[in-house]
Amino acid sequence: MGLPREAIPWAPSIDPERCIGCGDCLDVCPNGVYALNEQTNQMDVVNPGQCVVLCDKCAGYCPQEAIRFPDKEVTKAHLRDLLRSLPASSRRPPPEHP
Ligand code: SF4
Ligand code: SF4
Repeated sequence: MGLPREAIPWAPSIDPERCIGCGDCLDVCPNGVYALNEQTNQMDVVNPGQCVVLCDKCAGYCPQEAIRFPDKEVTKAHLRDLLRSLPASSRRPPPEHP
């Protein structure tokens, strides 16, 4: 047993003041994290738990710099704390960055 994904606070958030609904993030991500909201014509994060922990690839493709992620170092420290809290017999490393 590893860490439950829902215990790891890693997912994109989108600044609605910046997003223009271009779809570039949707095209880049293979994991179904995003969906275009046809009412607002902006991107929604519909499956945050599908985001690969410590991946931030899509942010680099956003022409509006609208995509933000939690701080990587803070997240890594949180992962270490979570791993330490597991019984030794159930520890395994977090998923590799793609
Ligand atoms: S960071 Fe990676 S996995 Fe997460 S939404 Fe962006 S491209 Fe998809
Ligand atoms: S790439 Fe940026 S501007 Fe385009 S839809 Fe995604 S968040 Fe919005």
